[in-house]
Amino acid sequence: MAEKMQEQRRKSVSILGATGSVGGSTADLLLANPELYSVSALTGGRNLARLVELAHVLKPGFVAIADQDRYAELKNALSGTGIEVAAGDAAVCEAAARPSDWVMAAIVGCAGLLPTLTAVRRGATVALANKECLVSAGDIMMREVQASGATLLPVDSEHNAIFQVFEQHRRKSIDKIVLTASGGPFLGATLAEMEQKTPEEAVAHPQWNMGAKISVDSATMMNKGLEVIEAAHLFDLDVDRIDVLVHPQSIIHSLVAYTDGSVLAQLGMPDMRTPISYALAWPERMETSVQRLDLAEIANLTFSAPDMDCFPALALARGALRSGGAHPAVLNATNEIAVEAFLRKKLPFTGIAELVSDALQTVSARAPQTIDDVISLDLEARADARALLSRGRAVA
Ligand code: NDP
Repeated sequence: MAEKMQEQRRKSVSILGATGSVGGSTADLLLANPELYSVSALTGGRNLARLVELAHVLKPGFVAIADQDRYAELKNALSGTGIEVAAGDAAVCEAAARPSDWVMAAIVGCAGLLPTLTAVRRGATVALANKECLVSAGDIMMREVQASGATLLPVDSEHNAIFQVFEQHRRKSIDKIVLTASGGPFLGATLAEMEQKTPEEAVAHPQWNMGAKISVDSATMMNKGLEVIEAAHLFDLDVDRIDVLVHPQSIIHSLVAYTDGSVLAQLGMPDMRTPISYALAWPERMETSVQRLDLAEIANLTFSAPDMDCFPALALARGALRSGGAHPAVLNATNEIAVEAFLRKKLPFTGIAELVSDALQTVSARAPQTIDDVISLDLEARADARALLSRGRAVA
């Protein structure tokens, strides 16, 4: 009886992308608060060992791995635990469809689109880390949120910061929002120096410990561009009311400027457990073991405007948002292919923005109307990007 009452009080949670960096930080918070949360479903892409490890400690009802070939191994590893297992893309969507109060959407890239949409469509509270799905399908996704009554809580640290200080009831008094950017590992480098940068250097972010794709996006500042598009959808603002400010210490996570001259900001140490915990406990707050901010110790916070010549990806993303139509989805798909090629040493670092720029030359002005349109557009843009790559953008 007591156990049943406790179960009723616990919030049930699913993690899409549990084996990744955001998934791991979410798991840490759940493990620190077992009396508050139970786990419904976990998903992974290919990392079977990590998925199995998480399943043993978090004890979900259902575990899915996207890679079909790992089904037998997963089933074997979890046999006798009572945990249901499945594999393949449909199984990942099945995990998102399983009942739970709260879903962490932390699959990287457009692969997260359908699972995230599945959770939205059943009206769940969705903590959104996967920015790519809003870049590719922002209008459709926001319409689906409205239609289902789902709650979308931004987890990206900048959007979470804005969410914390954005006075919805005073929307008319909001002048603009300002997304802060660390500038990544190549802040201050020249274009000639960037040409030589390796994947190892690009993923070594000075402030944040993240997955490989977002780390490279951070190094090109495409990440900030994707975030401008994400913010436009989340906060219903046009591109001219979204500024970017370089702030290498990553202490101020973003700001909202009001028409009376006030600027509200959210500060904290660069640790994803803070924004994740905010979304997990929302509308309350929860205690975390995140290092406390000591501004006297930090002493100096610095700011500068982004260097648009050294970081062309930022302008490309702003341009794609302004142009609308198919541009944001093509930008995202091409960037995913370009980052993958760079990580495999098939494209120089500066080739990432060049490939995206080339791909944006011939894009349709017509916006995708349905999720199927977005998926076809995404597949087509990936094929075009691969064709562009094979025509000579590769490193010698
Ligand atoms: P990681 O690369 O660390 O993790 C990505 C997750 O997605 C893993 O669980 C991976 O599985 C899974 N995955 C990859 N491909 C597929 C697929 N085809 N089908 C199903 N699952 C798949 O990324 P991060 O955790 O760093 O980032 C996740 C998302 O959150 C990204 O969209 C990123 O932009 C965003 N974000 C991340 C932040 C961070 O601090 N890391 C901050 C803000 C936003 P596996 O590893 O098992 O293959």
